Amino acid sequence: MKAGIKQMLNTIAQEAEYTATYTGKSAFDTRVMQAMQEVDRAEFVPHYYKKHAYDNGPLPIGHGQTISQPYIVALMTDLMDTNSESIVLEIGTGSGYQAAVLSRIVKQVYTIEKVPELAEAAGNIFSRLGYDNIELHCANGYRGWQEKAPFDAIIVTAAASHIPPALVDQLKAGGRLVIPVGLPHMHQELMVVSKDEQGQTHTDSILAVAFVPLIDDDVSSGY
Ligand code: SAH
Repeated sequence: MKAGIKQMLNTIAQEAEYTATYTGKSAFDTRVMQAMQEVDRAEFVPHYYKKHAYDNGPLPIGHGQTISQPYIVALMTDLMDTNSESIVLEIGTGSGYQAAVLSRIVKQVYTIEKVPELAEAAGNIFSRLGYDNIELHCANGYRGWQEKAPFDAIIVTAAASHIPPALVDQLKAGGRLVIPVGLPHMHQELMVVSKDEQGQTHTDSILAVAFVPLIDDDVSSGY
């Protein structure tokens, strides 16, 4: 294992311990940690920032967007509570890193990115590295991906001002939506919306986070 990746994993494990009182767990699932080890974050970081690829912080990826902090990627992946049979949806492909991590754990990843240049770059990385269980779509993900629904889990990697109703609709019974909710540059909370077998939902707030905003202004061009 590359020394940088090893250090990144140690930092994630340490931060998981520090935040155990909020998240309810002091260590992430071994499958999550394994996926974080397998997917080389350096492949998803712009050339200029390569030397910071394994730092536990977000990094700019252009177009005013960021690749999320590794600890947050691990936490959100863990909260999705998926397995090798899961079909999942991500809103906000960005660099493609989160989708790549998920692809090591689940059966199929569907991911939606609004910015065409970012979608194209992520798609190229998926092809080059052989991530063939990721399907990428360039669109506004506010309304999810109806044709591929329902999903075992949905992850939104941009902060929404509210929980998008379509995403809750597209969750299977027993499914989970992991989403940061709050306004840009204001207090945001990482939320988990769980749908029970009867289709009832309940929402848990996990911890305070800082994400770039979910752009949902032109919802009519979505699905
Ligand atoms: N998951 C990414 C981090 C993404 S940052 C990674 O691993 O790198 C958030 C991303 O969400 C940005 O790329 C942004 O363009 C995208 N985004 C914002 N609003 C969106 C929307 N309504 N639909 C789809 N993508 C959106």
